[in-house]
Amino acid sequence: MVQRVAVVGAGVSGLAAIKCCLEEGLEPTCFERSDAVGGLWYYTDKAEEGRASIYRTVFTNSCKEMSCYPDFPFPEDHPNYMHNTRLQHYICKYAEHFDLLQHIRFKTLVTKVKKHPNFSVTGQWEVVTQRDGKEETSVFDAVMVCSGHQVYPNLPFADFPGIEKFKGCYFHSREYKEPEKFRGKKVLVIGLGNSGSDIAVELSTMASQVYLSTRSGSWVMRRVWDKGYPWDMVVITRFQTWLRKILPRALNDWLYVRSMNRSFKHENFGLMPLDRASRKEPVFNDDLPCRITCGMVVIKPNVKEFRETSVLFQDGTVQDDVDVVVFATGYIYSYPFMEDHSIIKSRDNEVTLYKGIIPPQLEKPTIAVIGLVQTLGAIMPTVDLQCRWAVKVFQVKNNIHMYEKGKLKAASPFLSSLPQRHENSTTLQPDYITYMDELASAIGVKPSMMKLLLTDPRLALEVFFGPCTPYQFRLTGPGKWSGARKAILTQWDRTLR
Ligand code: FAD
Repeated sequence: MVQRVAVVGAGVSGLAAIKCCLEEGLEPTCFERSDAVGGLWYYTDKAEEGRASIYRTVFTNSCKEMSCYPDFPFPEDHPNYMHNTRLQHYICKYAEHFDLLQHIRFKTLVTKVKKHPNFSVTGQWEVVTQRDGKEETSVFDAVMVCSGHQVYPNLPFADFPGIEKFKGCYFHSREYKEPEKFRGKKVLVIGLGNSGSDIAVELSTMASQVYLSTRSGSWVMRRVWDKGYPWDMVVITRFQTWLRKILPRALNDWLYVRSMNRSFKHENFGLMPLDRASRKEPVFNDDLPCRITCGMVVIKPNVKEFRETSVLFQDGTVQDDVDVVVFATGYIYSYPFMEDHSIIKSRDNEVTLYKGIIPPQLEKPTIAVIGLVQTLGAIMPTVDLQCRWAVKVFQVKNNIHMYEKGKLKAASPFLSSLPQRHENSTTLQPDYITYMDELASAIGVKPSMMKLLLTDPRLALEVFFGPCTPYQFRLTGPGKWSGARKAILTQWDRTLR
């Protein structure tokens, strides 16, 4: 039986992992290389090796009601979208509230995770850690990899001929912290992802000119959506998911493009995605269209070539006297502590995981990768459910209904292959509610609409037509939270507050 679980990392995924292990009576030990919880949200003035790094002004792009842990709502007086310091405060409160800190070994680096010699029988792992130069090896029954996926920069210099000749300064967006030192400079930001557009907008207040280069465009969404409500409270509903499933594809695509173009026509701003109906992660930026229309950010196509002080773009235009280039070109997946890298990353550099969580080829399903799947939904409810699902799989590892090789093939829609991520990658995003419901059904926590309609019609209507808030996944079944019903019925009050 699985008893001892190693958790690598104490970001939002690692904390969910510890809590879910405790709920199931397992013994988690979490190893965190830094001196605090929070991972990406633990801001430091300098990027630290092996840990995600954000800029000073990062705000969340998922609202408080949609992105809380499902049994720990944000305080009522918090704004809908939050500065990173507030989110970090909430994460610390969560760890304190559920008494998770005692299970974390800070300043402890996991250097190796390898199969125990008896793995094929026991499914156990050897985990090697380092603290203050001292190395320690321990045996665990299962491992939860919560080490983050926005850590190792993707710098595709081979796609940028001449970069070695360029005399200005260039760096990955991970190194970017604040705009002051770019006052009066001409800056080129490469990559129209969330980081690229945030950095371009922020720099446009200081730099003499900002250019934002994109290979294939992107839909740009606003946090402030229809009638001023948070975008995710309006867009992510069971009703909308149901509509998408029953409507013909062409009509679906037409409606999607129409809604994306409602506040401004992307074509006119040079932002139109090459694949119009693509559901790849949109960019969330309320200010970008305004900065473009004011000429403070100029949209450019892909870079063809770098010269000493200028840049040639695919459309033949040249921009002279460029001082700084920021590569907002995303991240690569990396698990340097895995002795056998192919367990998570396959040969063609893809990550193939059952339900986006468990490597399908293992004799024993005792390692889980948490927080990798990208959906339109927020990370905290997603990792909470992923951890609850993974812990169940660990415990019933011989149960063929949950994990059995033959079945994996049949369940291929969720045997997700995730290519290396960078701007304009064509990673298919599973639909948030569909993905969450799949996991929830497997562990018996999916709310039944029919049952709700018969027993609690008011709640049923809010669950179906209202935002699919995280509380829905702690409403019923194992891990049920007694406050979930009330939290759902009062979610709009907190949003308006
Ligand atoms: P991380 O936060 O990266 O944490 C991983 C932890 O593991 C770190 O503490 C690290 O030190 C530790 N670690 C790594 N390797 C080792 C090792 N070998 N040994 C020991 N410890 C190790 N998501 C949302 O839902 N809403 C948002 O608004 C949102 N905004 C975002 C904004 C930006 C700019 C970015 C980059 C991402 C955003 N995300 C957002 C997605 C983001 O990935 C998640 O919010 C989340 O922080 C990821 O958490 P994690 O715990 O999986 O990884």
